[in-house]
Amino acid sequence: MDETDVLVIGAGLAGLAFAQDVQSRGLRVRLLDKARGVGGRAATRRWDDMRIDHGAQFFTARGERLRGLVKQGIRDGWLRVWSHGFPLWDGTLRERPPSHARYAPPHGMSELPKRMAQGLRDVRTETRVVTVRRNGETWAAQSEAGETFSSRCLVLNLPPAQIIPLVGEFLDTAPLAAVQFDPAWTVLARLEQDLDADWPALEVKHPVVAWVSRDHTKRNAGAPLALVVHAQGTWSAAQGESDPELVRGQILAALRDIVESPSIRKAQSFRWRYAQPTVTFPHSYFWDRSLGLGWCGDWCGGPRIEGALVSGWSLAEAVLSEKSRGA
Ligand SMILES: Cc1cc2nc3c(=O)[nH]c(=O)nc-3n(C[C@H](O)[C@H](O)[C@H](O)COP(=O)(O)OP(=O)(O)OC[C@H]3O[C@@H](n4cnc5c(N)ncnc54)[C@H](O)[C@@H]3O)c2cc1C
Repeated sequence: MDETDVLVIGAGLAGLAFAQDVQSRGLRVRLLDKARGVGGRAATRRWDDMRIDHGAQFFTARGERLRGLVKQGIRDGWLRVWSHGFPLWDGTLRERPPSHARYAPPHGMSELPKRMAQGLRDVRTETRVVTVRRNGETWAAQSEAGETFSSRCLVLNLPPAQIIPLVGEFLDTAPLAAVQFDPAWTVLARLEQDLDADWPALEVKHPVVAWVSRDHTKRNAGAPLALVVHAQGTWSAAQGESDPELVRGQILAALRDIVESPSIRKAQSFRWRYAQPTVTFPHSYFWDRSLGLGWCGDWCGGPRIEGALVSGWSLAEAVLSEKSRGA
């Protein structure tokens, strides 16, 4: 396998943001991801004729760079403002005044990473990296299928618990071990009838449920009626890897505390093992120049889409500034 300048393991939003920037400055970059598509937790599930966002639900744009990307996305027609905020349910429904825009692509959240990957020359999906070795000045990552990928620099866009076994022998991983994530159980449901509600989504304070979304309100008119329910992190952690059917039943029972008689035709459940960082890395990225090793992700830049993008962009800046100094 030919050697690249940078190998990125994990094509989540942080890895994609990093790769776009370094490729545009002339570096040869290759991304590997274990999943069928790019985007990690910015994910959309296709189920019958539905597209449902089962990971990230929307994103906000505080920084100038993301605001520019959002403007362009809206102009190009693949992105819309979904809402200016959501009511809170904490036993009763509490309306809240409109605030900043929440964006969501009408074709599903995976549209964002797909668009970011479009200009990238070397992206390989369904390639799970299982080991990483160092041969002199070069990194060599091996996939589950036995392929080897060599590069001068290595960037990891993975949860820290997956970084430690890969590169733990090369540096002190104590700061990584301190990072913590909550898992999240998610239920996706197809509705017979829409809820009697005028909100697109609800933030929820309940021992089981954290979020309820009428996912079809993001889609074009006539889209199938779909509901997304995210469980609380602590509740999800307590369930561990329980039987998905059992968990689904518990989440749907809890949903009935919040919305009146949802007419669910069918439902499925899904567990995000690393959903939300609860203890984050103290910097927005990591870069060790002598090893040519770095990492990025929302657990560095802030636990949301914008945080993941900022982390990837910041790491790219660090790598590129070194290159421009001729190091
Ligand atoms: C249920 C849920 C709801 C959310 N809601 C919101 C929201 O409404 N708004 C918001 O802004 N954010 C939300 N988020 C958070 C948002 O999705 C993340 O912050 C962002 O997508 C993280 O991107 P990332 O690049 O850091 O990591 P990830 O998206 O986790 O990317 C990591 C990538 O690494 C790949 N990978 C892992 N191991 C290997 C391996 N060994 N070899 C190769 N590839 C590997 C994975 O397949 C994945 O693509 C939500 C997340 C979840 C789970």
